[in-house]
Amino acid sequence: MKWPTYRTLAKRAESLGLNRLVRLVGSWRGLLVLTYHRIGDADQCEFDRGVYSTDEASFAEQMAFVRSHFEVVSIDDVVRRPAADWKKRQAVLITFDDGYIDNYEIAFPILKRLEIPALFFVTSGFIDQRSISWWDEIAWMVRKQYAGASDEEVDDAIVEIVENYYEIPEAECEAYLNRVGDDAQTGRYSDASPVWMTWEMLREMAASGMSFGGHTVSHPILTRTRSGNWEHELTEGRRRLEEELSVDVQVFSYPVGNPDCFSADLKQQTARHYRAAFSCYGGVNQGRGAGNWDRFDLRRWPVYGPMRQFHMTTTWPQLLN
Ligand SMILES: [Zn+2]
Repeated sequence: MKWPTYRTLAKRAESLGLNRLVRLVGSWRGLLVLTYHRIGDADQCEFDRGVYSTDEASFAEQMAFVRSHFEVVSIDDVVRRPAADWKKRQAVLITFDDGYIDNYEIAFPILKRLEIPALFFVTSGFIDQRSISWWDEIAWMVRKQYAGASDEEVDDAIVEIVENYYEIPEAECEAYLNRVGDDAQTGRYSDASPVWMTWEMLREMAASGMSFGGHTVSHPILTRTRSGNWEHELTEGRRRLEEELSVDVQVFSYPVGNPDCFSADLKQQTARHYRAAFSCYGGVNQGRGAGNWDRFDLRRWPVYGPMRQFHMTTTWPQLLN
């Protein structure tokens, strides 16, 4: 007989109502960090729909769920609490990456109403330059190229081209985007990107208790960037946030955040400027090992999918890597 995998077990647990029971007792202890990118109606978006974590109604439901089942913490709690403090807690930290405008328009009112002190990792150059991200630009070009094709075909093409982009060295990125624009007969996207928050919005969020973390100036995958550029990306992004928002920026998240998007060298350099840094490939920071947490690879879960998926993630984060 073949034993079912943990993943299968977790899915069955949800359908049998076992997750509800487990939540009463708690299957994990420690710090679970959830990551969101965009919130809203992806179907209306002419840019990358793959970065939508969920829609407004589900986000409100998820935040209410987190509020009633776990201890919601701020980044100050994470940075200041001693390791022994995490042993018995079921703490959740809500984070957002990049600086999308729906974070302000949709998520912020919900967070404020529920008094959830979320942490926003903001790419300073997106706010300053209003420049388009590579993934949004690829999606825009391909969507125009395949106008009339099914959503599924277009999304598949976008995923393939974005995934190829991940693999190429930084020096070839511009040529690659030029080629995609030529193939699509759209050329490159030349307008200011309408998808980013403004400094004014971010200041309002800061005044309401939201926190901010560094997420570079231009959102490169740092391990594919010359290490000579790391210092600028690490420090200038932070400097702009502190200057515009009058806040203390203590933490950083690696762009994309997969295990191959940071290295031992990068972690060391990051540690010279920040008190902690977050990855984004799943897992939970286990309470019993809190004394040994790698503070420059604090684990986060990117949130996607329906509410059932959210229940599984928050009930069994240690199993679903
Ligand atoms: Zn990012």
